[in-house]
Amino acid sequence: MRIETDIKLGFKDVLIRPKRSTLKSRSQVALDRTYTFVHSGSSWSGVPVVAANMDTVGTFAMASTLANHGMVTAVHKHYSLELWQEFLSVQDESIYQHIMVSTGTSSDDFSRLQAILKQHPQLRFICIDVANGYSEAFVSYLRKVREAFPDKVIVAGNVVTGEMVEELILSGADIVKVGIGPGSVCTTRVKTGVGYPQLSAVMECADAAHGLGGLIISDGGCACAGDVAKAFGGGADMVMIGGMFAGHDESGGELVDRDGKRFKLFYGMSSETAMDKHAGGVAEYRASEGKTVEVPYRGPVVETVRDVLGGVRSACTYVGAGSLKELSKRTTFIRVMEQENQAFS
Ligand code: 5GP
Repeated sequence: MRIETDIKLGFKDVLIRPKRSTLKSRSQVALDRTYTFVHSGSSWSGVPVVAANMDTVGTFAMASTLANHGMVTAVHKHYSLELWQEFLSVQDESIYQHIMVSTGTSSDDFSRLQAILKQHPQLRFICIDVANGYSEAFVSYLRKVREAFPDKVIVAGNVVTGEMVEELILSGADIVKVGIGPGSVCTTRVKTGVGYPQLSAVMECADAAHGLGGLIISDGGCACAGDVAKAFGGGADMVMIGGMFAGHDESGGELVDRDGKRFKLFYGMSSETAMDKHAGGVAEYRASEGKTVEVPYRGPVVETVRDVLGGVRSACTYVGAGSLKELSKRTTFIRVMEQENQAFS
């Protein structure tokens, strides 16, 4: 056993220090980024905010709406081939720039991935997602996917430390997904005692990835637009959002009526609810590591999109960044003991 005594920070531990700026208005701030991927060699432009591949968030309806704003949806892995076919046959060509196909690491997952990509070769992003990206089996699976699909952009995760980011990039990932335990419906830290404060994970992993020409997605832990700005400020190339996109028309999850108030069901992908739905229950050998909650119904997701993008644009103007690309270069975090004034919340 050993103890690392460096302080590791989450979003709630910092604020972004304002800086003198020549920008006149937040409307001048460009949120588009262009990335060239280290393995696939291709380029992509868009707004690098990604809806999480949860069946209550990463839906086809979400993908259609977010694509209109240049954003991306990691479509969850529980849609059938027929539903993929139906969805893509009505969509504009540009949709392929804004969706990722999610996969787990079983042989069924691989067959399904092959079938979807065979039917829709224009799909460019694959998101290989496991709760614990540290296993050798995961790395072998990543290698297999890279070999099968040399031209696709591969996202792989989740991990939280630089050495594993490097291993994943060297094994074929273009983008590494970073986050263990910060999610709004995640109970990993409580159930296992394992985790890493998200902002430090992002800063350390971004450094490791960028050194090899790779990119990272900060996944989980954003509870408000300011957290999204902090994730970008800390060096994330993309930010993935779950809970903030839940409760909307485009979100999956049952609508529930309680005393005249409407709620939508939102649950972690390793929650009992998700496992009952997709895996026939929680396997004997494992504990559920996700919560099930009811979030107030919030109408169309476009309101939240405006809130998030408006917040990030405004953060850029506070530090004098004319584009999202400049935000991390111009970010100085200050460690704080306070965040929002709670007097009226
Ligand atoms: P949020 O934006 O809601 O804070 O975090 C979303 C992220 O939480 C997802 O992208 C995923 O990485 C993670 N997540 C989703 N479901 C579960 C779960 O059941 N258990 C754990 N440990 N993490 C989850």
